[in-house]
Amino acid sequence: MANATETSHLYQTYARNDIEVERGEGVWLVARDGRRFLDFSAGIAVNALGHAHPHLVEALKRQAETLWHVSNLFQVPGQEKLSARLCEASFADRVFFTNSGAEALECAIKTARRYHHVNGAPERFRILTFEGAFHGRTLATIAAGGQKKYLEGFGPKVEGFDQLPFGDHEALKAAAAQADVAAILVEPIQGEGGIRSVPAQCLRGLRELCDANGLLLIYDEVQTGVGRTGTFYAYEQSGAAPDLLASAKGLGGGFPLGACLATEEAAKGMTAGTHGTTYGGNPLAMAVGNAVLDVVLAEGFLEGVRERALQFKQALGGLLDRYPDIVEDVRGEGLLVGLKMRVANTDFVAAMRAEGILGVPAGDNVVRLLPPLVVTAEEIREGVRRIEAAAAALSFGQTRKSA
Ligand SMILES: *Cc1c(COP(=O)(O)O)cnc(C)c1O
Repeated sequence: MANATETSHLYQTYARNDIEVERGEGVWLVARDGRRFLDFSAGIAVNALGHAHPHLVEALKRQAETLWHVSNLFQVPGQEKLSARLCEASFADRVFFTNSGAEALECAIKTARRYHHVNGAPERFRILTFEGAFHGRTLATIAAGGQKKYLEGFGPKVEGFDQLPFGDHEALKAAAAQADVAAILVEPIQGEGGIRSVPAQCLRGLRELCDANGLLLIYDEVQTGVGRTGTFYAYEQSGAAPDLLASAKGLGGGFPLGACLATEEAAKGMTAGTHGTTYGGNPLAMAVGNAVLDVVLAEGFLEGVRERALQFKQALGGLLDRYPDIVEDVRGEGLLVGLKMRVANTDFVAAMRAEGILGVPAGDNVVRLLPPLVVTAEEIREGVRRIEAAAAALSFGQTRKSA
């Protein structure tokens, strides 16, 4: 293991930890060496129903024995069913299926530009985004995110994306009034950026600004969607619906699946031949996506998520009181929780790992805690106990250092 990077043939693009995962059981991961971890990283908000959820396993097995792939030259009943359910559960009328979050965003960006094109305003192609945003790793989505560390060395930044400071209303108003702008793209809560929420009244303000200037509003709900924040999509809590929305991560529960959701009006330019994908909407992905919705949209499920979230937030509030030298703030919505740290977030994630619990570092020196949505009250208690043990270990270390 120690020499993995010397013997590996993989691109060395990831800072991997030393855990070799053998299997997953609900909210637990079991390593080859027998270590067991409470998984509050959940594949970065992907494993919404934990690991090896029996209903998902059954749906995937059944589909695997029936039909894997046919291409989008054929009718795919699973796509019809899943799109109808997503529209029923949201603002949308139309859905395009993809394999990932970045592809869902590419579809949303193309749809927004095409909308203005068919409206006779092809000069309207610029998309306004926000500093600290993360929208994926394709050439267009790194331009949309605008972060130097992801753009550097990859040639000219794709044209047509302008980053605005987070929370600067005047700059936003001025930018939105320009004649070449097509849309505003925003995460209701920045995930990679450090669990930074856009207040509900600001989302409503964005909606009004878009309407006043003839712009489309695009939400990136790749991380916040599918129950993660306690409602099916996070925007519901603001009452400000978008024209386009990118969804992925939790939508497939671990099977690669994304979707671009649109109103009929916003999608009107996306006629036959304008967009396509080989694997998007693949029958295996559709079977799993429909199975995820069976669980997440079942009566009372999201209410349960909100109850667990409240329990988690309150317990973490106690941790904040007891370890003000380690934790500065608890933020987020539902089970998308961020701990703003006073120690290095990567050190804290390592200390958590030593206590048998997994979290994910994010920007702004935050540790993300993303338990699967099926987490029980008892597992939340156990998780907080382990997080507190990590805080105690680091706090003790600090005291000794300064003594
Ligand atoms: C993960 C993520 C993406 C990119 O999704 P991929 O499936 O990795 O392409 C885009 N936006 C947000 C908010 C994300 O969290």
